[in-house]
Amino acid sequence: MDKIDRSNSQWKALLTPAQYEVLREEGTERPHSSPLNQEKRKGTFVCAGCGQPLFKSETKYDSRTGWPSFCASIPGAVETKVDRKLLIARTEYHCARCGGHQGHVFADGPAPTGQRFCNNGIALRFEPD
Ligand SMILES: [Zn+2]
Repeated sequence: MDKIDRSNSQWKALLTPAQYEVLREEGTERPHSSPLNQEKRKGTFVCAGCGQPLFKSETKYDSRTGWPSFCASIPGAVETKVDRKLLIARTEYHCARCGGHQGHVFADGPAPTGQRFCNNGIALRFEPD
């Protein structure tokens, strides 16, 4: 995978202000604000920053959190780091290609993975099969 490395001003020109805040500044969208919460078709959720496929529709589930949630990412598509912005350390994950922030992953997801990728819908684009 070729990494994408753009300056902040280049990203600002490519993204909407709301996308920029989430993808490049690790912002969090308002819960229940993303139309992707209701997306139930078969397809692929790709990074809104660079188009890298991140999640398949088969791994999406309703976590009732108000954010699109997945129990597994496409292998190698995301990377993680520890986020200490809150008192409790969380695991942040981002697109492995462009570094765009997607969300946080928690260990309270459904079987078989037990993982919950809690994703900002605005950081994703859905491509139906
Ligand atoms: Zn990306």
